[in-house]
Amino acid sequence: MDKRIIIVGAGVAGINAATKLVDNGYPGELITVIDKGNDPINRLPEEVMTGMLGAGGWSDGKLTYHTAIGGQLSKYCGEEKAMELMKQVVDNFTRFHPKPDEIFMSDPQEEPEFIKPYFGLRMFPVWHIGSNFLHEIAKTWYQYLVDKGVNFLWNTEVYEIDFKNNYIEFSTNINAIREGGITYDELIFAVGKSGIDFAQKLADDYQLPNEPKSVQIGVRFEAPQKYFQKLIDVSYDFKLYQKFDNVSLRSFCTNNNAAYVAVEETYGDISYNGHAKKGKEFENQMTNFGILMEIKGIEDPFKWSRDLVSKVQAKSTGLYYSPKGTRQPGLTSEGSTVSATQISMDTLAHVVEPAFDGYFSYVMNFISDMNNVFEFGDDWGMYIPEVKYLSPEPLVNYHDLSLTVYPNVHFVGDALSARGITVSGAHGIYVAESIIRKEILIELMNMGI
Ligand SMILES: Cc1cc2nc3c(=O)[nH]c(=O)nc-3n(C[C@H](O)[C@H](O)[C@H](O)COP(=O)(O)OP(=O)(O)OC[C@H]3O[C@@H](n4cnc5c(N)ncnc54)[C@H](O)[C@@H]3O)c2cc1C
Repeated sequence: MDKRIIIVGAGVAGINAATKLVDNGYPGELITVIDKGNDPINRLPEEVMTGMLGAGGWSDGKLTYHTAIGGQLSKYCGEEKAMELMKQVVDNFTRFHPKPDEIFMSDPQEEPEFIKPYFGLRMFPVWHIGSNFLHEIAKTWYQYLVDKGVNFLWNTEVYEIDFKNNYIEFSTNINAIREGGITYDELIFAVGKSGIDFAQKLADDYQLPNEPKSVQIGVRFEAPQKYFQKLIDVSYDFKLYQKFDNVSLRSFCTNNNAAYVAVEETYGDISYNGHAKKGKEFENQMTNFGILMEIKGIEDPFKWSRDLVSKVQAKSTGLYYSPKGTRQPGLTSEGSTVSATQISMDTLAHVVEPAFDGYFSYVMNFISDMNNVFEFGDDWGMYIPEVKYLSPEPLVNYHDLSLTVYPNVHFVGDALSARGITVSGAHGIYVAESIIRKEILIELMNMGI
């Protein structure tokens, strides 16, 4: 095992890849992880998307365990392998958890009767790591990798990759801006959502062949938890869904008890997400979740979503609607108001609906059907938009997620259209396994076997 492996992105995918490599005896000294964010000791709570464990490091810490959730995994490796890989990710988070006994798992078994006339409910296990433990997990995990000899370059942004000559260019802002470069034998490209622009640039520069993707867009819904309690009792992280001809809708990433809405910035525009905190001091008795539509048949879904998001911005932020202005944007977990411009029914009808090309009525119908079941009346609000940018997925070899045109470059995690911790981590582990397999094969061949 003598190949130099560079991992761009110390997020969930990159860190799980590095861990699998060293766990299997790969020399840590040959692995370098480069990240534009901070190490886990210096990473600040407002650095939501960058640094050790990436977006997963400041996330809600909910590890979902179903191949239909969080992006495509079984497409590459089959159902059984996908489940095994995701379990390895859960095991890694458990292993570095300061209080593994406090991880709890919800596993609903039966679809409740009261939702049946309007919705289906996806049922699967979820491990709740607890977002306030993620920082400690990140520190212990980091120390493990450092002890194994893995090199880390923090505050270092990769801005160019020469796939033909296996060369990476980066700039680092520790002390002063410094340029640098490094060669690789194998590259694991794990830049997540915060690296989506860079991934797109590389795809354009190298004209990488890709697989078309659907659009995933909608809103983040927020209401007092009491209305949803009967469903939360059945499934903490419930996933309601509705299916129509070319549109399907699902509730996404549900947060309860101490539930906060988070602002995301991509391409200079604001969209929303959510996370939950643990600890009495954070409890606000609210529930929030995304209502996401998947729309098939949009010609250029990536461009369409980006245009849409830019149309539903006002005063340098996204929008907030509550019927008759009943509710206002909530507080963040740091105690400031979530940045969003409150709009009227009129703006909803004349700005939002056209921006969504008429598809917004599906969201409103979803909310109206929820009201039939949960009876929250006017006591709710929504942040517009929530978006999952599924940029065209580069075409990869399914056995090791390497680019079909550059077989020593592996795309993983959100950079390969994953949408969650377990699937992203599983991508990383899958690639690490394939690199180890290849190395063992080479060693055997060198030994003449
Ligand atoms: C607020 C929030 C809450 C979430 N909650 C959950 C949850 O509860 N459960 C769940 O399953 N998912 C959740 N997610 C999604 C989940 O965090 C991501 O799907 C997952 O982290 C993706 O892993 P990744 O390794 O692909 O990317 P990331 O974890 O985003 O890591 C990418 C890393 O790459 C680095 N990077 C980017 N570009 C460059 C560059 N050019 N040079 C160097 N480094 C670069 C970044 O600094 C970052 O550290 C949440 C996301 C957010 C934002």
